[in-house]
Amino acid sequence: MIRDFGDRLYRRQDVVRWLQWAVVLLYGLLLVAPVVWPRAGVARLTEILFWGIWWPGVIGSMMLVGQFWCGVFCPDGTVTEFISRRGRGGKAPEWLRWAWWPLVIYAGLTLLSDGFQAHRSAWGTLLVVGGMSVAGMAAGAVYGRGKRVWCRYLCPVASLFSLLSRCSMLHFKVDRRRWEAAPRPVPKPVDCPLLLDVRRLTSNEKCNMCGRCSGHRDAVELAWRRPGSEIETMTDDEVRPWDAVGICYVLIGLSQAGIHWHASLTQILAVTLALGSAVALLLVAAASGRRLLAMRLGYGLIPLAGLGLMLGAAEHSLSLLAAAGFDAAAVLPWLRGTGVLLGLAWSGRLGWVLTADLPLLRRLGAIAGFAAALAPVAACIQFAPSSF
Ligand code: SF4
Repeated sequence: MIRDFGDRLYRRQDVVRWLQWAVVLLYGLLLVAPVVWPRAGVARLTEILFWGIWWPGVIGSMMLVGQFWCGVFCPDGTVTEFISRRGRGGKAPEWLRWAWWPLVIYAGLTLLSDGFQAHRSAWGTLLVVGGMSVAGMAAGAVYGRGKRVWCRYLCPVASLFSLLSRCSMLHFKVDRRRWEAAPRPVPKPVDCPLLLDVRRLTSNEKCNMCGRCSGHRDAVELAWRRPGSEIETMTDDEVRPWDAVGICYVLIGLSQAGIHWHASLTQILAVTLALGSAVALLLVAAASGRRLLAMRLGYGLIPLAGLGLMLGAAEHSLSLLAAAGFDAAAVLPWLRGTGVLLGLAWSGRLGWVLTADLPLLRRLGAIAGFAAALAPVAACIQFAPSSF
């Protein structure tokens, strides 16, 4: 059934195109309408759609089903690929492939969003969100031949999405044996817009779930998996330092600071550094200084941190409801409590599995240390000041 959905996605790329351009149109309207037509109702409607529904929905979908948003709906992805088919077609240079770029740009973008009040002002949204779209178009005009170089190497939110989608319960599974045994002549290579080596695909990290490889050589299929199983089975060379830094300082530190403590740039930076460093040090202590295990345990924090990010985004929706007279303050503790319990159970399970190789006593010590690293994250999510 789910395999059929993947295959249908492959066969009906014409429908996907229509859908994508409809989203581009809607996105353009939402960006521009409140600026050229500055009525309170228009601004409120776009704020609700953009920050109240779209952003928390996208974050949740990443954790649940992977990056379908990027491959099937994202207007920036559609436009950068479209322009790239007609652009200069240059090869992405080495400097542009620097793995830290998305993280660095995301951190800058979060600070910029706060400075421009992007969540509350139509001009701020246009400058920050629209600015990223223009950068995506520029990348498409210069690099790639019909590929999404922007999405693969630079897109700032992709840095978070690639972490969150490791939790998801769907992925494109590749059967290497079938791939190699495919009858000759083999079909044309997959037109993967993310420039991925589909034959070796084992992770949701960069896969945009566009479906263009579904059924290839009768070896690729959309499949279910246990949520978080990708994190449990990562090999040593799939564990990345920039991911570990991103989890501690961006997914946890900067996200929580940006949501709850954004009175000034100094406050955001102070909370980011304090929270990120506390979590990082607790992970190092949990792993008794073993760098690889500390980084591995960092991935174990993603479910709790991701749910914290989604709850923070959902709080913006609640603040909009509160402005309309709904008693959002009464709902908030329950919402947060449910998210924290779910995140603790999910991350706790990952911590248990990730330490399975250790002798019993060291394992118990590592689990205790991991629980200590989860504690400040859970406390922030549950007890941080609300945004309304
Ligand atoms: S591997 Fe590439 S072609 Fe296949 S679904 Fe992912 S992004 Fe699309």
